[in-house]
Amino acid sequence: MTPLAPGAKIGILGGGQLGRMIALAAARLGFGVHVFAPEEAPPAAIAAKHYRASYQDEAALKRFAEGVDLITYEMEHLPTDSLRDLAESALFRPSLRSLETARHRLREKEFLSALGIPTAPFFALGAGRLDAGRDIPRSFRFPAIVKNCLGGYDGRGQRVARDRGEIVGALSDLGEGEALIEERVSFRREISVLAARGADGDFRAYDVVENCHRDGILRESRVPARIGLAVAARAKRWTRRIAETLDHIGVLGVEFFLCDGDSDSDGEGALFVNEIAPRVHNSGHWTMDACAVGQFEQHLRAIAGWPLAEPVRFADVRMVNLLGDDVESWRDFAARRGVCLHLYGKEPARAGRKMGHMTALYPLSSGGSGGSGGSLGGRGG
Ligand code: AMP
Repeated sequence: MTPLAPGAKIGILGGGQLGRMIALAAARLGFGVHVFAPEEAPPAAIAAKHYRASYQDEAALKRFAEGVDLITYEMEHLPTDSLRDLAESALFRPSLRSLETARHRLREKEFLSALGIPTAPFFALGAGRLDAGRDIPRSFRFPAIVKNCLGGYDGRGQRVARDRGEIVGALSDLGEGEALIEERVSFRREISVLAARGADGDFRAYDVVENCHRDGILRESRVPARIGLAVAARAKRWTRRIAETLDHIGVLGVEFFLCDGDSDSDGEGALFVNEIAPRVHNSGHWTMDACAVGQFEQHLRAIAGWPLAEPVRFADVRMVNLLGDDVESWRDFAARRGVCLHLYGKEPARAGRKMGHMTALYPLSSGGSGGSGGSLGGRGG
């Protein structure tokens, strides 16, 4: 494809902070940006134009598509049925296939299994609820987690089942819709890979990230991750296989659990994929401050048919999410040396809501493995 020239208009489906940061990066490259989101004043409405309508409103989606040269998305919780025409008639990247695979937990896990990439053992719970779980094999281990197949994020749409008897109760808490159950993995670390695949098939991965979640929400990321070189290579190799199989164009994030055990001959531990994000990802925010080209620009380069940048990292980093009223300490954060502050312009500061993040930069450690710097702590303290 001929690369999109500066001046072209990028349409973003979704109005959250990821859309806002894509819009900022697009402006820097000289692109125009239109945003489609149902909210009145979403964080991404810094764009030149905001189409305010429901994601099911196909007429509004069509008008939005007519005003842009390329459509991308900042979240996977989109109704893919209403996007089908759009994806066929407009340049839509990453493709609907990436979106449909990653947004549905069961489809995602079956896709990974077909690739021979391990996940936590899982079992589909279907829609018939009262006898749910009766067919689960005896080898399946509890405690386990019941998850809605659609719509869950930041720990929402999940319930722990300590034994078989708790499955039906967990399902009724979660409401209607398909669900699955997966074994709770006892992991040593959570890690993620952020990578981009260009329109020409070029693939570039950033350094592996180590993540800390609490209550299902990402709190802190650090790079380098405290993992061995073989695990890092394996995680990047699997991410590449996922991107290539999906023919993904754009950035994607893949989250992993690293467990004790020895599934590979390198002896560095057993790796399982938790989930695929077919888009820019919270655990990649540090790339904006620690690399010449961050994930948002890299995503635009990929979807616009530009060459991908080399994802070189210039500093060790810790990224801390500012949740809820953490953001009220912005004066304190702004005064810290070596800390880059990003605020999303959201209101109100509800508990657990992602209001901003900060990235602390440290001198680059040698070798890319082993820790760096002190913890930034819970409330960024
Ligand atoms: P998810 O929305 O599925 O990515 O879950 C959010 C977080 O919950 C993960 O990053 C983990 O910290 C935790 N979690 C989810 N699934 C599992 C699992 N099968 N075993 C252990 N922890 C899990």
